Amino acid sequence: MAALPKNEIITIDGPSGSGKSTLSRLIASRLGYTYLDTGAMYRAVGFKARKMGIDLDDVQGLEGVLANLDLQLAPGQGDTRVLLDQEDISDAIRTAEMGLVASQVSAQPVVRRKLTQMQQAMGAKGMVVAEGRDTGTVVFPEARHKFYLDATPAERARRRCEQLREKGQQADEEEILQQIIERDDNDSSRTVAPLKAAEDACIIDSSKMTVDQVLVFILEKVENL
Ligand code: C5P
Repeated sequence: MAALPKNEIITIDGPSGSGKSTLSRLIASRLGYTYLDTGAMYRAVGFKARKMGIDLDDVQGLEGVLANLDLQLAPGQGDTRVLLDQEDISDAIRTAEMGLVASQVSAQPVVRRKLTQMQQAMGAKGMVVAEGRDTGTVVFPEARHKFYLDATPAERARRRCEQLREKGQQADEEEILQQIIERDDNDSSRTVAPLKAAEDACIIDSSKMTVDQVLVFILEKVENL
């Protein structure tokens, strides 16, 4: 594979269950890039707000949550390890419920501003695969390689269930489908950084593609651009 310039950023946007995380991790590992899981950061803020008993739409309370945010991301075996105040919350934040909590706090401009700044600092040196709904539109609008992964809600619910079951968690596909529809609605109707593909993103409908097929497609695009 041809070497890419050192300062490249690849963004992978798309709705939940579209395969973003799996693909972003694989692409990062194939290219020797750092994988930046921005969703984990929103989940961590939601987790902390919950823990502190702050209402998810209490702007002043959320400012307090963000003021002393000791949040670290580190590569893990599978998912990124997330440390909040030195405590490993990686498993605690990756539940369907915390997905909804993250979606709620992520609608608050004060939260988006802070996390966007942190993400831009993390990507400043390049060689990053940034995964998340606004990475191509807001966080790294100048990135040269932008992808927007999509799949039908039913297929995304099926994949999410499979992932949860692999982790030993219980999963009701119908309930997960409803959560996906609710989250899609929250994420695309909010006024700040709504879920949408960047104009210059390559849109991939992965409903009928395997992970390998999407991976090959993206790597070829990245190499040939
Ligand atoms: O990707 P993940 O499912 O971990 O994201 C959880 C939630 O965090 C999303 O549903 C979305 O509301 C929010 N999020 C966001 N912007 C990002 C990443 C995640 O608003 N860049």
